[in-house]
Amino acid sequence: MTQQMETKQKKKLGLTTKIFIGLLAGAVVGVILNYLVPGGYVKDTIIVEGVLYVIGQGFIRLMQMLVVPLVFCSLVCGSMSIGDTKKLGSVGVRTLIFYLVTTALAITVALSVGNLIDPGIGLDMASIQTADTVNTSMESTSLVDTLLNIIPTNIFNGLAQGTMLQVILFALIVGIILAKLGDKVDVVSRFFSQFNDIMMEMTMMIMKVAPIGVFCLIARTFANIGFDAFLPMLKYMLAVLLALAIQCFVIYLGLLKIFTGLNPFIFIKNFFPVMAFAFSTATSNATIPMSIDTLAKKMGVSKRISSFTIPLGATINMDGTAIMQGVAVVFVAQAFGIDLTMVDYITVIGTATLASIGTAGVPSVGLITLTMVFNSIGLPVEGIALIMGIDRILDMSRTAVNITGDAVCTTVVAHQNKALNRDIFNASHKKEDIAQ
Ligand code: ASP
Repeated sequence: MTQQMETKQKKKLGLTTKIFIGLLAGAVVGVILNYLVPGGYVKDTIIVEGVLYVIGQGFIRLMQMLVVPLVFCSLVCGSMSIGDTKKLGSVGVRTLIFYLVTTALAITVALSVGNLIDPGIGLDMASIQTADTVNTSMESTSLVDTLLNIIPTNIFNGLAQGTMLQVILFALIVGIILAKLGDKVDVVSRFFSQFNDIMMEMTMMIMKVAPIGVFCLIARTFANIGFDAFLPMLKYMLAVLLALAIQCFVIYLGLLKIFTGLNPFIFIKNFFPVMAFAFSTATSNATIPMSIDTLAKKMGVSKRISSFTIPLGATINMDGTAIMQGVAVVFVAQAFGIDLTMVDYITVIGTATLASIGTAGVPSVGLITLTMVFNSIGLPVEGIALIMGIDRILDMSRTAVNITGDAVCTTVVAHQNKALNRDIFNASHKKEDIAQ
């Protein structure tokens, strides 16, 4: 009898709660492994680099497996159902404006917080000199190449490589043409919408193992890094984290409230599993399927909108990354004793916005595009070596902010296009309440 009741209670735990438990338990187990378990074959090879690594990576790969087919099919279906190119254009323009404005705001917040906390003042110059110099051969992509690269020369190559902007462009065109040709291409249209259903079902199946995946990823990270690794850079980290928090909880939730009137707390609660997943993987791209699914099921956002705005956002809208870059500029300038002028700050706002567009939604790319920002105002690229060691934990945090920005924008654009079902948004909240 008691067992029956226990199983019933277990069943009632929502995915959000389970992922949260996975996150906390992973952190605790990771810290225990780092500090209390002595190194050796069993800990290092079997547990950390064995079980935790294999399950964690397996989960990331499962999510990544979904990305290209899911984005392609759902975008074809999305643009096909919007049909009207004028309407599609207006969704696109609104989304782009929202993405650019929030990114510029993010960098401004980062520069202000950086100047308030002064993370680089008092840094020991000698230790900077001896720090490993960053690989200066890191590529920085030029703006023209970034723009030209949106047009695929061979779409199969783009699909195979997972070059998201190329996939997005091609899928949009196919969808528009399907809508234009109507009944003549009925079979192909139905093929895409049925394949889309298959991909959604696959997403749901994979999501069931998310708590275990998140547990393994976090446990391994903490087992490897522990706390000491990032103590010396605490101030820099605090500045980045503070700016990320302002962006997420003040700017995003403020915009959400102003534009849609939705309850920001319910929004964050519903979106938490996706943020936890982004945090544990540091990969915006991998969160695309989960984001679209969560927005549809818990927020009532039509996939017609999200199938377009979410992949686009995961590719070009990186506010968290821009924040890290803004704080890094202040930090390195202070550490090297370089005074920044107003023109420098304005240049940083411009280049970091472009860098955010050029940053791919995979781990650590923000550090590479940071070279472009440093170059634009003549900061020494060696400064990047200073922050490299502790970037992983910040990468995780900024990725969670990156994808939250995409979700807020999507919800606002959906609201403006009458593609937001408030009943689902409110009902999902009540359901979770009853379940818990
Ligand atoms: N990891 C980030 C993302 O996927 C990109 C970065 O800032 O390095 O969103």
